[in-house]
Parts: sequence; structure tokens; C-alpha cells
Amino acid sequence: MTLPGSPHLNRRGPSLHLEDCSLRELARRHGTPLYVYSRRAMHEALTAYQQALAGRDHLVCYAMKANPSLAVLQTLAAAGCGFDIVSGGELERVLAAGGDPGKVVFSGVGKTAAEMRQALRADVMCFNVESEAELQRLSEVAVSLGRRARVSLRVNPDVDAGTHPYISTGLKGNKFGIAHDRAVAVYAQAAALPGLEVVGIDCHIGSQITQAGPYLDALDRVLDLVEAVEAQGIALHHLDLGGGLGITYDGERPPAIGELVTRLVERIDARGHGHRRILFEPGRSLVGNAGVLVSEVLYLKPGSGPGAKSFCIVDAAMNDLMRPAMYEAWMAIVACEQRDEPAARWEVVGPVCESGDWLGRDRTLAVQAGDHLAVLSAGAYGMSMASNYNSRGRAAEVMVDGDQSWLIRRREQPSELHAHDLLLPPSVVAAG
Ligand SMILES: *Cc1c(COP(=O)(O)O)cnc(C)c1O
Repeated sequence: MTLPGSPHLNRRGPSLHLEDCSLRELARRHGTPLYVYSRRAMHEALTAYQQALAGRDHLVCYAMKANPSLAVLQTLAAAGCGFDIVSGGELERVLAAGGDPGKVVFSGVGKTAAEMRQALRADVMCFNVESEAELQRLSEVAVSLGRRARVSLRVNPDVDAGTHPYISTGLKGNKFGIAHDRAVAVYAQAAALPGLEVVGIDCHIGSQITQAGPYLDALDRVLDLVEAVEAQGIALHHLDLGGGLGITYDGERPPAIGELVTRLVERIDARGHGHRRILFEPGRSLVGNAGVLVSEVLYLKPGSGPGAKSFCIVDAAMNDLMRPAMYEAWMAIVACEQRDEPAARWEVVGPVCESGDWLGRDRTLAVQAGDHLAVLSAGAYGMSMASNYNSRGRAAEVMVDGDQSWLIRRREQPSELHAHDLLLPPSVVAAG
């Protein structure tokens, strides 16, 4: 069978490998559930962006909410990558991984004053501001610190990215960005505020976008605004085109990274904006296809009677990988060890006490208890959305490069899960 996703997934005999590492061996060594990431796949995706932008002033800012593992950040930072952050916690991670705050853009609709202070002190490259109220607040905070905040406005181009409603962000009816028809006026406000320095413009229209069309439409809308804003005497040095490029989970055929970027850059040049610095904020397309989630089959529960479903119960659950339960996302599931026996159809589910706890429906697999299954394309929005629901410790994570592998996050232990809880005073409990 062909494997969707990472070019670094391959079968050697019956056993599935990521790069040159056997997933079964890694599962035996580190236990399951286990996230495994290919360092090469991440490098290659980043290089595809960088090469398509070579020869012009550019910066790729990894949207780290896709996968904030320090080793992932470290890998990308060492290759020249910047970061798109959405919280103070993410800024801490960038610094802990050795990333350069001068290559950080700070996005998000709800930055607190404390997060603004933290980011100003770290001297991040730019704040992507999403509302007029946020502009005022940021200016006040910057003035109170005796600094000026570099800002870009996130504009909402009102284009339909053609994705799931939960991951579409560029339409009028959602909470993100400044409405297209307000943008020129808001730029004028920003330019007049004492704590701000206007440096750019930004848009991000959604996630898992599989066509170039919405990007080109959004770009045209953004360039129209650039021209209108500059006509007011406000200079915009950079164009930040956001992230959102989709990956292959199943049959999707998104444009290749280099192809999409080349088309956008050609349009930018054609409209006479080629001198501007260009930023991208990719998340999923840098790391999604680089990762898999490996789990062990705990029990098989064949259906009894016609039409009854058969369940394959694995030790990974919705708390480890939310995408199927949250977005009804389809993710490929394959056996780490191929068996010769005939395959059957299974609902692949986890141990969590929710009917919504499923990883895959109606999957054809030849499996037995004790086998390992890999959910593919799990490098983005997998571990980063994991929770401790059902008091389950989050999975361990491993990075592979060739035949080498490193544990990059220890499995959470049960005692760590209630470490922040506080008991009531005994006198209160005794009083009934
Ligand atoms: C989530 C996000 C991204 C990355 O989106 P992907 O679909 O993972 O590429 C980029 N920019 C902003 C502002 C985001 O919120």
C-alpha cells in the first residue's frame, strides 16, 4: 500500500520505519502512545519555503502552536527560522530553545498587557495587532516601558479559504483580524499613537488550505490595502502572508510549498511590490507530515451480529490526538508490523470514556492485540492539542534523524498530573 504523508515513512519487509528507525523498536524502547518526528522532513519543508524566497528579503516564522516541542523549535531555529507566537508561554519556549526573539511575530486576538510587556522586553520583531482596542492597549503598555512596539495589522481579507468552519479565519463573520473596509482608518490611528511604529501588514486566512486560489485572492486584497495605506503616507515594509497551507492526510493534493510561494511572489512582483520584505507563518506544512503517533492495540472487540461494529481499542486516545474527535478529521492509520492474515474492518478507538473518542472509523486492518498502529501525518496539532483528560499523562515524543533517535519529551507520570492541585484545609473537610 502507499503511505500518505511523509516521504520518510517507508516499509522494510513487514515493518514500518520513519527514516531509518523502526517504529516498533521505538515503541518497545519508549512505550506508547508515542509521537515520533522526522527531523529531515521538517528541514526539507523549511528549505522549500526558504529556497522559493531566496534572493529576496524574507523570513519564515514557524507558527509554533502546531508543535511547540523545544527540539522542534531548536531544529528550525538552527536552520534560520523565526517564530509566530500566540502567547507569552510560546515566547518562553522560543527563548528556552535558543530561538531569536528578533525573529518573532506575536499574533492572536487576546494578548494581555502582561504578555505585551514580556514581548516588548524580549524585543520581538513585530506584533500582529487584531483590533483597534488592542492597538490602544499596546501603545499604552509600550509608552509605560519607554519603548515603541513595531506593529503590523492583521487584516481580514474576507476570502473563503474553503476549509472546515473551525479552521477558516479570513471571512467577515469570524473573530480574527481587522475588517478590510476599516483597515486604512485603523492604520491612520496606529501611525498617530505614540507607542507604536507601523512596519507591516499581515493576513492569515485559515488552515489546511489545499488550493492556491484563496491565497492569490487574499494577496490581491492585501496589496490593494498596501497601496491605499501608503497613499496616506504610512510606509509598510513587510508583507506577512500568514500560514495555512494544507498537507496530505488522505487524497488531498495541496500545491507544493515551493510552487505556492513562487506563484505568490510572482504576483507580488507583477504588482510592483517586489522590494518588500516577505514573511510567511506556516505551521502544519512544516511539521504535519513529519510526525506519526504510535499506539499499541490493547483489545479487539469484534461485533456480534450483522451490521455490528468491531472495535480495535488502542492505548492512544482523543486526549493524545484531538483532531478526529474535534474536526472529524480523517487521518491514515497503518499497522507498524504487516501481517499476512486477512484484514477486517475496525473502529479504532481509545480508552477515554466518551463515544467521541475515536481515531479512525471503518478502517481495514490486519491486527492482533499487542500490535502497534501508527496514525500518520500527526506532527501538527497532535501533541500540541493533547490534554490530561481522564487523568491520562501526555505521550512521550521522539525525534529521529537517519538511524539515530532521541527522546525529546518524557512521558508524563500520574503523580505529575495532580502536582498543581491543592487540597482543602482538613478543618473544612472535617466540618462536613
Ligand atoms: C495557526 C496560525 C498559523 C499557522 O497555520 P497552519 O495552518 O498551521 O499553517 C499562522 N498564523 C496564525 C496567525 C495562526 O493563528
